[in-house]
This record gives sequence, C-alpha cells and structure tokens, in this order.
Amino acid sequence: MFRIGIDVGGTGIQVGVIDDQHRILAEGSIPTRTEIPFAEQIARITDCVVSTAASAGIRSEQIRSVGVGIPGIADRSTGSVVKCTNMGWFHVPFREEFRRHLDVPVNIDNDANVAALAESVVGVSAGTSSSVFITIGTGIGSGIIVDGKIWNGFHGIGGELGHVIFSLNGVPCSCGNHGCLERYCSATALIRMAREAIDAHPDTKMMEMVSKDVSKIEARTVIDAARSGDPLASQVYGRYIDYLSQAIASVVNFLEPEVIVLGGGVSKAGDFLLDPLHREYPKYVIYNDQPMPEIKLAVLGSEAGIIGAAMLT
Ligand SMILES: [Zn+2]
Repeated sequence: MFRIGIDVGGTGIQVGVIDDQHRILAEGSIPTRTEIPFAEQIARITDCVVSTAASAGIRSEQIRSVGVGIPGIADRSTGSVVKCTNMGWFHVPFREEFRRHLDVPVNIDNDANVAALAESVVGVSAGTSSSVFITIGTGIGSGIIVDGKIWNGFHGIGGELGHVIFSLNGVPCSCGNHGCLERYCSATALIRMAREAIDAHPDTKMMEMVSKDVSKIEARTVIDAARSGDPLASQVYGRYIDYLSQAIASVVNFLEPEVIVLGGGVSKAGDFLLDPLHREYPKYVIYNDQPMPEIKLAVLGSEAGIIGAAMLT
C-alpha cells in the first residue's frame, strides 16, 4: 500500500506518492490557483493525486491514506481547514470535499508540523522522542514533536513560535500583534536590520554586492558579506544571531526538547549559523550548567512537506 503526501503552498501544490519506507516514488505539482471556487481547487488537487499515483503505476485502490500540510490551521478531527489565509480557505470542509473524488482517509495538519514530523522520523532528528523544528524564511514556522507525535495544541492553533511575543510593543507583525519573534528572527528581519544599518552607514560590501540597490539585499547578501568579514554585515549578523539565540534559549527554557532542528532559507548558512548559535544560546538558558540540546540542520529540504504529510494518521 502507498500513502499520498500533499504540500499546499501559496505558489504551488506538491503531491508525493510515498511507500512504507517513507520513500518518494513519484512527485507531481500544480500551480496554486486561489481565484477559482474551493470545490474546483480540490478537484484539481485530486486530479493531480490520481495522475501522480498513475505515473508510479499505482491505482487509486492502492492508496491507504492522504495527508495534507497547509500553511494554516486545521481541525484534525473533522478534516476541515479552519484558517489558511494564503489559499483563502476559512472553515472549508477539505476532507469531505476531497473524498467526493477519492474515498480514502484524509488527514490535515500545519505544514511546519508535518515537516517537523518528517525530520523526526526519517530526517536529522530521527530516533529522538522530542524535537522542535524551526523553519526560518520569510516568516518563522515551527513544529513540536513530543513522544514521536505532533503537539499542536488542543484546537490545533499551538506551536506557533513565530508569534510568541518577543519584544513588548515591538515591531508590528502581520498577525496584528507587536513584537512577534518572527519580526526579529526571520530572513525578513535580517534584511530589515541590514537596510536600517545601511541607511546610517552606506559604506559596506553589502551595497557592492547589490550594485548599490538596497532593495536587492537578501538574507544571503548579509550572511555572505559577514562571512567575508565586512564590518557592518558582521555587526548586523551578530545582532541577528543574538536574537535567534534568545529565541532558541526560550524554547529550551520552556520545552527542552532533545534536539532543535533548523530549516528554511537562513539555515543554508550551515556552520556559519550553527557555530555561533551553539556558542551563544546557552548564555540565555537558566540551567545552562546542564547538558544543552543540540541544534541541527534539517536534511529533508522541501520534500519534508510531502513526506511528513503522508505520515499523518
Ligand atoms: Zn505575529
């Protein structure tokens, strides 16, 4: 038997056919379309599932279950999407609509949660019973694994590290609050900090790297310039590492998972990210005379979404 994993994203929807060993046998994708009615969106997704399964020589009757990761929150018991702003889905009966086309068990969870699950079963945190996965990109996504299972709260709205309040009355966040952690620890935050620093001190290698067009600065620009020793980039990156260290220490003070897994664009900095974090974050842990959790880089990349979704039961 085979399972299907679906990763719903704002620009594209990935479908994977996964075997009992959590290996991907076939992949398919469709561009996201939010301007068409919900029923048509689901029809397109089920078409993609059937055709992707067929490309691996698998008939619909051989599909044991379908799992879906969404950038939002879902009610796991009913299979409804509660809120998924990127898709324009608010209280929509995903499972019910999906099963009109393909009558198999359908499970839904948040995309960062399923990525956390995938890493904890076949990725970098495999073999641990508790882990926290943090994906650092445009925002901050996170997933908590306890005893090998996703912990996302009583109504599925928990596990949102990105919106833990980090600075009282701080930088406004898209969620409506001020001072959310992702405003200080995401790639977007690193870029904002770099632009602010450049405003005051334009003489930096970062400006050469973007041909003096400050709008072209990416997280990678800051990281690469810091790596090469540019003083301003090093200063900005050092401050960013300090923020991220405090975020990680907060996770440790509150949950103390066996391992903390970092994914997303900023994690591509590799040891240039891990080494200073390992050095800095224990300073903010209250019981730092005890063994500290290790921070590791995610290994499954973008495929964590379909692999983890297929694991949902
Ligand atoms: Zn927020």
